Amino acid sequence: MLLDLANGMLAYVVLSMVFGETASVWFLSVALAFSIAPDGDYAIYAVMRRYREVLSHKFVHYPLVWVVALLSIGYFSGRWYMALLAVVPVTLHFVHDSFADTGTEWLWPILPGRWFTFYSGRLNVLNAIERNARLRARYKHETNKGFVRVLMGRLVEDFAGSAGSARFVYVFAVLALTAWFCFNAGYSFWG
Ligand SMILES: [Zn+2]
Repeated sequence: MLLDLANGMLAYVVLSMVFGETASVWFLSVALAFSIAPDGDYAIYAVMRRYREVLSHKFVHYPLVWVVALLSIGYFSGRWYMALLAVVPVTLHFVHDSFADTGTEWLWPILPGRWFTFYSGRLNVLNAIERNARLRARYKHETNKGFVRVLMGRLVEDFAGSAGSARFVYVFAVLALTAWFCFNAGYSFWG
C-alpha cells in the first residue's frame, strides 16, 4: 500500500511534466486514489469476513477490466491526462501485486482462474486452489480482527516489511512531489 501510494505520486509528477500541467491537489488525489483503488475490495472483505473466511484480494483485482475501461474513458472524452492519471497508478498497483506470492489474475475474463506471480524470482502461474492456500496463509490472522486493527496492522507490516529499496522509493517520491509543488505553486495550486 505504501509503495502503491509512492508509485502514484511518481506517476502524477511524471505525467504532469509530460502533459505540461501545473501542480494540482485535485489531480494528485486522482492518481493516489487509483494507486490503491483495487484494494477497495478490503471494504467488501471487512463486511463479509464473518461469513466467508478470507476474501481480500479476491474482488476487484481484474487489471484488464480497469485498464480497458479507463482507456475507453480517455478515448471517448479525449481527456488523456486524466485517464492516464488513473491508468498508470492502477497498472503499477497490479504489477506490485504480481510480486506478492498471491499474484494477479492479469487476463481475467479472457483467462480466468490463473494468477501470475513473480514472487519466486521467475514467472509462476497459480490455480485457484494454490492461490486460496496462499491467501489463507497470508491473511488468516486477520479473520477475527476489526476493520481498524486490520488496516493498522497492514500498514505497520507494510512499512516494517519494506526492503531498503522500497523505502528509498518512498522518500524519493515524497521529495519529487514536494519539488513539483514548490516549482509550480506560483501558477495554480488548487486549480
Ligand atoms: Zn492489490
